[in-house]
Amino acid sequence: KVLTNKADGIGLYRTEFTYLIRRRFPTEDELIEIYTSVMSRLGNSEVVIRTIDLGGDKISHLVNQPAEKNPELGWRAVRLSLDRLDIFRTQLRAILRTAATIGRQQAKILFPMISNLGELRRSQAFLHEVCDELKKEGVAIPTRILIGAMIEVPSAAILADKIAREVDFLSIGSNDLVQYTLAVDRTNSKVAHLYQPANPAVLRLLHQVIQAAEKNGKPLSICGELAGDSRYTLMLLGLGLRELSMNSVFIPRVKQVVRLISIEEARKAVLPLLELDTAEEIERELAQLNSRLGIN
Ligand code: PEP
Ligand code: MG
Repeated sequence: KVLTNKADGIGLYRTEFTYLIRRRFPTEDELIEIYTSVMSRLGNSEVVIRTIDLGGDKISHLVNQPAEKNPELGWRAVRLSLDRLDIFRTQLRAILRTAATIGRQQAKILFPMISNLGELRRSQAFLHEVCDELKKEGVAIPTRILIGAMIEVPSAAILADKIAREVDFLSIGSNDLVQYTLAVDRTNSKVAHLYQPANPAVLRLLHQVIQAAEKNGKPLSICGELAGDSRYTLMLLGLGLRELSMNSVFIPRVKQVVRLISIEEARKAVLPLLELDTAEEIERELAQLNSRLGIN
């Protein structure tokens, strides 16, 4: 689907499913087989592998996860990986070995749910430790290893300038960033009306992250449902985003919208939205802008 919908690469490959559908932990070789099937089919296009984001609403029976009162605020993603270095090690080894074995010059690895710099530094240090381990064993690793942090927790968005200085790329996880910024459970239909991607607080935060990435010369992409929703493409481009990562079925529609507008036009139309007070006002303005441009 990625190839037939003409993606330029994979902006975020979710790796946790392997741990949700199996009876036992995948071995390093099993992971290599899975990652090879994805990376090799993408040729030279970029593939960003996100390390496991288990926990939250993705509970694996393989990991001894305690029942939590607030799983979305709990033992999730990189927090879990840093506590279970055995699982983390196997995954990182598999990613590095796959990239090198299929002749890729570089591996792009993305850490989910980074909420402070210490967590990021510990994840990076562990990745370097795994690299050294492989080198000592005489196992080939890619020449370039690019490390990215997901910006999906408000604290990471607020500290995006600091995080940007320490990584090779950033990726906004819009699903979680909206959820945590607005304190609205993304899976709870009772509060679905409060899940507002165009809330002024979200827009401000997005804009702040975009500026932090730009200032530090670091590539930034956005993923999550917002990135693939063509009603918001104009908004994202206007705010300054240039890389959108989405479910591949949405690519043709989003590309169609991108072709309808110039960056300058988008900027002029969207930056004033940052001054509006409510999501409703922003949505209304966006709907008008979209309809004037023939986007529906
Ligand atoms: C996100 O939060 O936007 C994201 C892409 O991660 P996930 O939906 O897997 O939490
Ligand atoms: Mg997320």
